[in-house]
Amino acid sequence: MSLPEQGRGVDELLAEITLLKKDDLPLRGGRVTAYVYDTGRPEVHEAAARAYFEMLEVNTLDPTAFPSVVEMERQVVGAVAGLLGGGHGIFTSGGTESIMLAVKAARDSRRTAGRPRMAVPVTAHPAFHKAAHYLGVVIDPVPVDPVTFRAVPSAVEAALTEDTILVVASAPSYPQGVVDPVAEIAGIASARGVPCHVDACVGGWLLPWLREAGAAVPPFDLSVPGVTSISCDLHKFGYAPKGASVVLFADAGLRRRAYFASASWPGYAVVNAGVQSSKSAGPLGGAWATLQALGREGYLELGRVTLAAARRLREGVAAVPGLRVLGDPDSALVAFGSDEVDVFALSDEARRRGWFLQPQLSYAGIPANIHVTVTGVTLRGVEAMIEVIAESAAAARERGPVELPQGLVELVTELDLDTLDDTAFGAFASALGVELGGAGQPEMAVVNAVLDALPADRREAVLVRFLSVIYS
Ligand SMILES: *Cc1c(COP(=O)(O)O)cnc(C)c1O
Repeated sequence: MSLPEQGRGVDELLAEITLLKKDDLPLRGGRVTAYVYDTGRPEVHEAAARAYFEMLEVNTLDPTAFPSVVEMERQVVGAVAGLLGGGHGIFTSGGTESIMLAVKAARDSRRTAGRPRMAVPVTAHPAFHKAAHYLGVVIDPVPVDPVTFRAVPSAVEAALTEDTILVVASAPSYPQGVVDPVAEIAGIASARGVPCHVDACVGGWLLPWLREAGAAVPPFDLSVPGVTSISCDLHKFGYAPKGASVVLFADAGLRRRAYFASASWPGYAVVNAGVQSSKSAGPLGGAWATLQALGREGYLELGRVTLAAARRLREGVAAVPGLRVLGDPDSALVAFGSDEVDVFALSDEARRRGWFLQPQLSYAGIPANIHVTVTGVTLRGVEAMIEVIAESAAAARERGPVELPQGLVELVTELDLDTLDDTAFGAFASALGVELGGAGQPEMAVVNAVLDALPADRREAVLVRFLSVIYS
């Protein structure tokens, strides 16, 4: 953009935003089965948007200047604590920040002789790797059961060291939607005096409603002995606009370890609960309004239809020749794989039919698969979704698996990314028929097949390059 010489009117700007968004995936309607959470009730999202707007310019930096922030946050955190076994919370910008704060609190509550370490199941969210990277913590990966995809408690025990500052369990883990054996894992941690964080980012505001709607959900929250912190994203199954999560600590002393204060400069005194300092209260207002607009009854009803949709989807997918549901998901996340159909091609075929089905790469012995997040809106279109999955599977079978040019994977593996600039990388991708930064509906099967063939560290290097190129 070149900055306009004269300021422009709001109507013109909004028209331009509409144009900018023309290739975006749709936010509503249930055809995008990741990233967005739709209640199917426009009035709820409208209430959230208006409250967000109302709080937009309030700065949460100084709670004495804007007491509305303190009151709203106490209410929102209180609602989450009420559902998840109590505790002392912080409202954050998302799951990643909630996890970052839980890791920081654990690290700062223990002194270790060596570098601090944490035991993290291989199915846990990358936010733990990010927190480890930012906070100087080493990850000890914990394997999961190859059939159930749940973390193996004996392997957690085996991963513990003198320097372990935190043990992690997910409720559920995102990839296959299964709940780790939280009670057993927390018990092992507590026997060694080690804190245990439950990542309920996706499930915290879902599992209790599913349980009430009749699903068998094992205990997973702060009421489980040994669990010392838990994260719960309101911008997922709380259906709040993005920028809303809560991290709860079992005791206020541990929460204080997440806080940060600095008076070491000649300016205003800084005390922050989270990573950001100046920060809009918009997301807090949006979350507060969403909780109020739906209420207990609203969430329970959403839980009921979500459970019904997830069950129907599992049944429908299992009936498609060549597809199988991975594990026995206890939540509204359903993953399916195939030994006969290229799932990356299936995802592209679905995209061509107007549906986004999220591909997941193979990792730690878990095969490549497709991930569907079932939400409140899914049920009314679930038959259409199953039909599209069946058609896309048939079309993918017809197409056959992606054939990568001979030697390509070796070439990418050995590519010296340090000596290749972004332009050269873009040209390299282009030579493979992949236009980085191109708008619209990219054919992702080739990209996914290449990534899938690489070890994780090479995937990461390529992904960083990709981001650098699209922002060049
Ligand atoms: C989404 C998610 C996160 C990370 O949350 P963000 O809000 O994207 O930062 C962490 N853990 C799980 C299980 C998740 O599903």
